[in-house]
Amino acid sequence: PSDSDTMDLKRVIRNIPDFPKPGILFYDISTLLADAPAWKETVRRLANRVRAYQPDLLVGIESRGFLSAAPLAVELGLGFAMIRKRGKLPGTTIGHDYALEYGEDRVEIQADAVKHGQRVVLLDDLLATGGTAAAGITLLRSVGAEVVSAAFIIELAFLRGRERLDVAVDSIITYD
Ligand code: AMP
Repeated sequence: PSDSDTMDLKRVIRNIPDFPKPGILFYDISTLLADAPAWKETVRRLANRVRAYQPDLLVGIESRGFLSAAPLAVELGLGFAMIRKRGKLPGTTIGHDYALEYGEDRVEIQADAVKHGQRVVLLDDLLATGGTAAAGITLLRSVGAEVVSAAFIIELAFLRGRERLDVAVDSIITYD
C-alpha cells in the first residue's frame, strides 16, 4: 500500500469531552480540516467510496455535511445541493419534521434542487444515532430522489446508526 493508504486519520481528529453537554464526547474535525495532507486523503477516500454508486448529485446536510460534499462534488464532477435547518433556504422549499430526543426539528431543501429519479448520495461529517441522516433521506425521497447511499467521515458504530438507514452506508473512520 502507498503512504496515503496507510495514513492514520484518527490521529488528526480531536476528541473534546462534555461538548455540547456533559457526557458527550465530541469528535472535532477542525483539526482534520486544518491538516492539508490528511484532509486531502479524507476527500480521496470518500470519493473512492461514493464514486461506486454512480450518483448524479451529492447532497450535504447542514452544516458539516457541506464540508465534505463540496470538495467531493468537484472531485467527482458532480453538482451539490444543500439540506438546511428550518428557514435558511430562500425560494420554494420542501420540509420534513422529525423527532429529536427532546422536541422536534425540521430539515428543508429547495423544491428544484433534485430532479425526479436522480441518484443521490447524502453526506454528513459523522453518523451517530442516524436520526439526522434518516430525516435527510426521507426529505430527499419526498422530492423524488433515489437515495443510493449515505457517506460519513466518522461513524460511531456502537450507536448502531446504520441500522436506522435503509440505504448503503459508508464511513472511513470508525469508533467501536
Ligand atoms: P445523529 O443524528 O445522532 O446520527 O447525529 C449526527 C449529527 O450530529 C451529525 O450532523 C453530527 O455532526 C452531529 N454529532 C452527533 N454526535 C456527535 C459527536 N459525538 N461528535 C460530533 N458531532 C456529532
